[in-house]
Amino acid sequence: MIKPIELTKLAASPTHQVVLEINEAVPDLNCLTPVQGEVIVHHQGDFVEVAGCVHTIVTLQCHRCLQSFNYRLETNFDEVLWLVDSTEDKVPQEREVVLTALDEHIPHDSQLDVLDLLYQLLCLELPSQNLCSVDCPGVSPPPEIQALSDQRWSALAQLKQELS
Ligand SMILES: [Zn+2]
Repeated sequence: MIKPIELTKLAASPTHQVVLEINEAVPDLNCLTPVQGEVIVHHQGDFVEVAGCVHTIVTLQCHRCLQSFNYRLETNFDEVLWLVDSTEDKVPQEREVVLTALDEHIPHDSQLDVLDLLYQLLCLELPSQNLCSVDCPGVSPPPEIQALSDQRWSALAQLKQELS
């Protein structure tokens, strides 16, 4: 199990960085295989750089035919987490930078939960529309439903006949 990283300890370490071999079940992600890959966490003074590549296989449900299918989820990332004082709500104006979706500000003396970060990154890679294949035909009604609708039509036809 990958433990959260104490940022002050990382800053005090000789290399300021740690290389993590990932082979973990990430909670809340419907994974068939553990999340695997490598992550490097590098303390750069003002910020922490988290870079790496991880992959897993998840089970998704097709939005069109409702069948389950397996999907390879992979993320290549290089994230910057700005370090702030615990008492500060946000970084001062002059240090403001253009932020991408995941850029965050975290207290410099906090713990970095790498697994939680991986979970967020992998969620971003989930397809917006789950399709088991590009040409998925969708749901075809089972025969009994088709027969049922046929019966309704015939009842309607009969009613029409009676009225006329
Ligand atoms: Zn489908």
